[in-house]
Amino acid sequence: MRITVLAGGIGAARFLRGLVAHAPDADITVIGNTADDLTLYGLRVCPDLDTVMYTLGGGNDEGRGWGRANETWHALEEIRAYDAVPSWFGLGDRDIGTHLVRTELLAQGRSLTEVTALLTARWRLPVRLLPMTDQSVETHVVVEDPAAPGGHRRLHFQEYWVRHHAELPVVDITFVGIEDATPAPGVLDAIASADVLLFPPSNPVVSLGPILSVQGIRSALRAASAPIVGLSPIIGGAPVRGMADKLLPAIGVDTSAAGVALHFGARRDGGLLDGWLVDERDAPAVPQVTAAGIAARAVPLLMSSVEATAAMAAAALDLAAAVRR
Ligand code: GDP
Ligand code: CA
Repeated sequence: MRITVLAGGIGAARFLRGLVAHAPDADITVIGNTADDLTLYGLRVCPDLDTVMYTLGGGNDEGRGWGRANETWHALEEIRAYDAVPSWFGLGDRDIGTHLVRTELLAQGRSLTEVTALLTARWRLPVRLLPMTDQSVETHVVVEDPAAPGGHRRLHFQEYWVRHHAELPVVDITFVGIEDATPAPGVLDAIASADVLLFPPSNPVVSLGPILSVQGIRSALRAASAPIVGLSPIIGGAPVRGMADKLLPAIGVDTSAAGVALHFGARRDGGLLDGWLVDERDAPAVPQVTAAGIAARAVPLLMSSVEATAAMAAAALDLAAAVRR
């Protein structure tokens, strides 16, 4: 079975670990968000690709959810000691090794797709990890700032998220460079040839949003013969981890399991979803989602263990089989 999954960082990585546990023989392709990428101290950093790579490769820090296990922070301590450049992004020493290799390979003229294949080879990933595009796309957040000219200031998403903990009032979110971005090699084919397409519980705005905005990806999903099933990242009206509730209102979406489903929309009405899983706690949302033309079921959606997450993956594949067109 060919399964293609769109992916952000932590939510996607944890879900993928459960999917691999449930379907070890499946041929899984992951299309990763690269709009969180940034250049720090000359190093090209791809937070979401690395979270998927480290998590599926067994090299991630479980507690933090991002970065390497057994990490040390000497380089960052030295950077901070100079107090000459911003140092709000957590770059561990082991992690820096990855970014050095990536930056070097990109400087040699390799594409991000090629670099990602070279990096993931070390980790013997049970999936094929593709960036959504080889071109640079950056999520920028426009925030209210009375001190700035015009009362607004534009920041890289990572600065808004990591440095300011998503606490600044958001006026707008833009994916800079998205108009010129084309799907990376293999992306459209992975969508067209899939037997099942999955949206993991990733941030709908800044993780899945950029992927769906790369030209050609949304239409490829709509044209795909495989069913598209998503899992809600929102349980009981709040994100399970992180601050997605800060961004959904900024794009006019209700912070609820049904709100996110309606945001992606029913495929029959020009949207993307054939099926949607909500958490048991959100069972009352099932009729509303179903009425909108999206087959919905309520199952436990807390990724509290690999076993619990494997059961979520099984439920998603069951729903996909039920809605197969
Ligand atoms: P990021 O790029 O690291 O922020 O990761 P993602 O975009 O892939 O995932 C973030 C989303 O995962 C957040 O909106 C969380 O609500 C969601 N999430 C995290 N843990 C869980 C969980 O156990 N269950 C569900 N349903 N969603 C989760
Ligand atoms: Ca991310």
